Amino acid sequence: MHGHSQTFPVSPPRAWAEVNLSHLRQNYAVSREKGDIMAVLKAGAYGHGIANIASALEQLPAAEAPVFLGVASVIEARRLAEAGIKTRIYLLGPTFPSEREEIVARRWTPCISSLAEARDFNRLVRENNAEPLPVHITVDTGMGRGGFLPDALLEKIGELEDFEHLYFEGIGSHLPSADEDEEFTRTQFEVFEVLLDKLDYDRFKFRHLANSAGLLGYQSASTNLYRPGLMLYGISPLPQFQDKLTPVLTLKSRVSLVRELPAGHGISYGRQTILEKDTLVATVGIGYGDGYPREISGNGASVFIRGKRCPLLGRVTMDQIMIDVSELPDCESGDEVELFGENILVSEVAERAGTISWAVLTGITPRVTRIYL
Ligand SMILES: *Cc1c(COP(=O)(O)O)cnc(C)c1O
Repeated sequence: MHGHSQTFPVSPPRAWAEVNLSHLRQNYAVSREKGDIMAVLKAGAYGHGIANIASALEQLPAAEAPVFLGVASVIEARRLAEAGIKTRIYLLGPTFPSEREEIVARRWTPCISSLAEARDFNRLVRENNAEPLPVHITVDTGMGRGGFLPDALLEKIGELEDFEHLYFEGIGSHLPSADEDEEFTRTQFEVFEVLLDKLDYDRFKFRHLANSAGLLGYQSASTNLYRPGLMLYGISPLPQFQDKLTPVLTLKSRVSLVRELPAGHGISYGRQTILEKDTLVATVGIGYGDGYPREISGNGASVFIRGKRCPLLGRVTMDQIMIDVSELPDCESGDEVELFGENILVSEVAERAGTISWAVLTGITPRVTRIYL
């Protein structure tokens, strides 16, 4: 045999993400000190891989494991179900009418923002002849994305509780600026507490308000369930708590070429960088097509090679970037490169790119191989 049937060595991935599950468990343990946890796994567990992250958390001893896994959509919920995940699944946002039959049949937990949604779920449970479905009420204390306004809920709680096929197991709200506006966030905690006082705390088994920033930076006696996302992945939205956490994901690539280029030579599209001196330039096999943000170009970014930070030169291209490795005379093709991880935090990359850690992590594209450690 020859020609087309010849086999070639497997091409190593040019860009990959190492996901460290023991770091995940350490970060989770930090969150679990507060109370029961709904682990937020939307958007493919922030780019870390939803099924792998879910099963790592589900394998914890039952007393510590998350009570809920929070997802954004029925598609994400299905992914968990198909992976054999047994932990209860909570849908973080409003659902479409066409999704509700499946939600009822699979006993996922929706959150309710209106009487109309409650009525529809109540009907579907009745038609299914099923046990009352546990649902949570969402309250809008300032996010403006969903939920009953507090006064409207006080008015409608009676009508809601008349739906006999629903069990109002929980109540939640969301914090829009827990990492930016402490005063407003404190007001939200107060509003939530006053509301719960009026409704009677014991009416709801689960009361939840805090995302990562809310969990790390605020105390509240009225809530007993927490919804951390970002912090599970080792990044603190409040920098003063970063040292409690360890990044889970390291985005890596390799040097593909090293060359000496002369002073005056241009680097990358637009030639915005012109070398001021003779420079040792490494080409690295990652670009914005992998999710390394193009917007970071020209903003003082660096990458980590052989234990050293080395500056990015010129614009990020789709599949490749260029790095000044003049400080690393031994740098050679094949050297590993860390784009972000433990040595360079994704929060730094995000800031230099004018965006947020959540967006950089969820922006890692499918062609980046995820490797679980
Ligand atoms: C995404 C999300 C969270 C998690 O937020 P982090 O800031 O990543 O901790 C919590 N609650 C709701 C409703 C969300 O949509």
